[in-house]
Amino acid sequence: MAKLDYYAVLMVERNASADDLKKAYRKLAMQYHPDRNPGDTKAEQKFKEINEAYDVLKDDQKRGAYDRYGHAAFENGGMGGGGFEGGFGFEGGLGDIFEQMFGGGRRGADRSQTGSDIKAAVEIDLTQAFTGAKVNVRVATRMSCDACGGTGSADKNASADVCGTCGGAGRVRAQQGFFVVERTCPTCGGAGRVVRNPCRVCSGAGTVPRERTLAVQIPAGVEDGTRIRLSGEGEAGPRGAAPGDLYVHVSIRPHPIFQRDGANIFCRVPLRMSQAALGGEVEVPAIDGSSAKVKIPAGTQSGDQFRLRGKGFSVLRSTQRGDMYIQVAVETPQNLTKRQRELLEAFEQESAGQGSVSPEHEGFFAKVKDFLKGMAEGG
Ligand SMILES: [Zn+2]
Ligand SMILES: [Zn+2]
Repeated sequence: MAKLDYYAVLMVERNASADDLKKAYRKLAMQYHPDRNPGDTKAEQKFKEINEAYDVLKDDQKRGAYDRYGHAAFENGGMGGGGFEGGFGFEGGLGDIFEQMFGGGRRGADRSQTGSDIKAAVEIDLTQAFTGAKVNVRVATRMSCDACGGTGSADKNASADVCGTCGGAGRVRAQQGFFVVERTCPTCGGAGRVVRNPCRVCSGAGTVPRERTLAVQIPAGVEDGTRIRLSGEGEAGPRGAAPGDLYVHVSIRPHPIFQRDGANIFCRVPLRMSQAALGGEVEVPAIDGSSAKVKIPAGTQSGDQFRLRGKGFSVLRSTQRGDMYIQVAVETPQNLTKRQRELLEAFEQESAGQGSVSPEHEGFFAKVKDFLKGMAEGG
């Protein structure tokens, strides 16, 4: 069965804010909760869909991946492992689920202990992709709070205490009927630690929102759509925990002269009709800023291709280069002067019916003649 669009499931616009999402989710989850619809399998199915959609969209990183790749982002492990954690136990009843969903979004000590990954996008020129480039990327991120040194505590020297409720695990177990339910620790919200005297600047988080500019090295030979991972350059972790990663999506602007295909470069070069007929030499530019002379043999046709070895694109993590292909397009002269017209008329008179001048033309019309003859005899 095809999966519904997550935004459609929650009945929100694609640009819905985190708040809108939360509101929409609360409303629908209330409506379809199994406790309110006992025995209604449709409602149960709907409730699962709502939870799955919200679990993805409430997480900026997952939402970004979903916006870009759709459901495929979470199939086969999705973006670099992680994947989607499906399955919600209903055993705990309404309160437990709501605590999981609304309790600050923390579900387990492991996840709350590292900073979030962030993503950014840069657009570079084809020439920058050829040489490699250092580009500045501006990101909205969270950085360690200076006021408390990232500890989250107003008293810099007092590190956060291990949470007494969960013993640092971030989760607690409780017996509910037949089931043992594990849920987020209500005291520390899953962090495993509690700050007795929270820092006023960051409210105990240990991190503060900041805008940051990073110089990112784009390697030579990078492909359009490449994602570069900068380990540890994501958001600072809460209370001094390890930071997340930064993912930079690289796109390459189209070039007015060159088209790239992997390591090869194609360049379309228009030739004057007389140039193509008489032959000669044309100078063509190369992506590295140099130029190369290409010998055009007499009688070159539109679409003929010439290869310049080693004049193509750079290859990622290699000193090799691909080839450049010159594709010739013969241009029919237009806006003729009187003299040019006379010359061409004389040329036309002299070449009409001379098969060796335009063999393809003559061959085609010979076939046309045969075709018409065959039609006349057949009919
Ligand atoms: Zn705890
Ligand atoms: Zn602080």
